[in-house]
Amino acid sequence: MSEQSELPDRAETLIVGAGVVGCSTAYHLAKKGSSDVVVVDKGPIPKTGGSTVHAPAGLTQTSPDRTLATIAKETREIYDAAGGWEENGAIEIATTDECWEYLNRRMDQARTSDIDGAELLTPDQVKEHVPIIETEDLIGGFHVPTDGRIDTVSLLDGLKTDAENRGVSFHERTTVTDIETTDGAVETVVTDRGRVRVDDILVAGNIWAPLIGEMVDVPIPLVPCAHQYGVTDSIEALDGWEHDVEQPWVRHWDGDLYFRQHGDGYGIGNYNHDPIIVGSSDIPSLDDAIETEPVYDYVPNQGSRHDPFKQPSSRSFTESDFEDAWREATRLFPDFEGRRSSKGSTVCSRSHPTTCLSWANPPTSMGSGLRPLSG
Ligand SMILES: Cc1cc2nc3c(=O)[nH]c(=O)nc-3n(C[C@H](O)[C@H](O)[C@H](O)COP(=O)(O)OP(=O)(O)OC[C@H]3O[C@@H](n4cnc5c(N)ncnc54)[C@H](O)[C@@H]3O)c2cc1C
Repeated sequence: MSEQSELPDRAETLIVGAGVVGCSTAYHLAKKGSSDVVVVDKGPIPKTGGSTVHAPAGLTQTSPDRTLATIAKETREIYDAAGGWEENGAIEIATTDECWEYLNRRMDQARTSDIDGAELLTPDQVKEHVPIIETEDLIGGFHVPTDGRIDTVSLLDGLKTDAENRGVSFHERTTVTDIETTDGAVETVVTDRGRVRVDDILVAGNIWAPLIGEMVDVPIPLVPCAHQYGVTDSIEALDGWEHDVEQPWVRHWDGDLYFRQHGDGYGIGNYNHDPIIVGSSDIPSLDDAIETEPVYDYVPNQGSRHDPFKQPSSRSFTESDFEDAWREATRLFPDFEGRRSSKGSTVCSRSHPTTCLSWANPPTSMGSGLRPLSG
């Protein structure tokens, strides 16, 4: 639906946010037969500028929680059907005994949830899959060949198109500014493009969710935290590699880092820094946001597939927060030495597992009607 589409004045369900949570919920509601659904996003759809369009988007199926494992397995099937799913696998590595014990528990979890192909690897087997890794300190690895990744912009577009074909309407550049209630029940959602009377509102606003909670005096326990993702320049050992992701992801729990191949380079996700906390109200508007290309699909010898666009959830990359990560990265991947790229992103994501909350007009026993849906 185009930017000019008229906002209806009534909907059974209004979803705030067209990131992966909002689009996926719209898709699932529509598939179950609820077509009276309206999705609004203050940014352009699918390049909303929220967290989704920055994510390197690795999907891990193994989880200590069997429900989450089931959701992840079904998600993989949806991604596969949507197109653009890259099944390059993932390897978690251990360099300490504690982590090796943890990886053995991960293997048990994978067995319990029937994750296809999961196996424990020796250091030499890890190297067979990721030839540029240094194995000296490795104790072993946990490999899931059926994990992978998807291009998030294409994914949002695919979920949106499918939901639209089933009757859902999407409205970009439409900001929710207030929510009116009667006797504690949501009645009207106020936007800068009109008012919509609703039965239910589902808040899939991620790092902005606390601001939406304030509109109905419901605190949402979520703190936006910035997460760093850096990339290397072309690496000689990967000379000639064109395709985005062929080697498995590597998750290095002992170093709080993960690695993803980008053609002839690599991406480095960094949790090895002091928390970078950002207030929801300090996130810039679309107009004030920095304009940048997403780093997640950058390939050194080709550049980025997407042109730069406004990204409110993005902040400038702070090199000082990346120093320890880079040191550890070059220790594990000696071929990275001297190949540090100036490109990188520092992007806000949530620091609470409950990304998505819904308000319904509830039975009175549900109090405020705030009910967690999914993380
Ligand atoms: C660098 C980075 C790497 C990541 N890597 C991975 C990974 O490999 N695998 C993985 O699973 N996850 C990863 N994540 C996390 C993942 O991206 C997020 O958990 C997920 O995208 C959150 O989706 P969302 O739909 O909740 O939020 P978002 O995509 O942020 O969507 C929220 C939307 O709400 C809209 N909105 C907010 N307020 C309003 C309002 N008042 N009116 C209208 N619209 C509004 C915003 O414009 C936004 O589009 C990563 C995140 C980052 C930042």
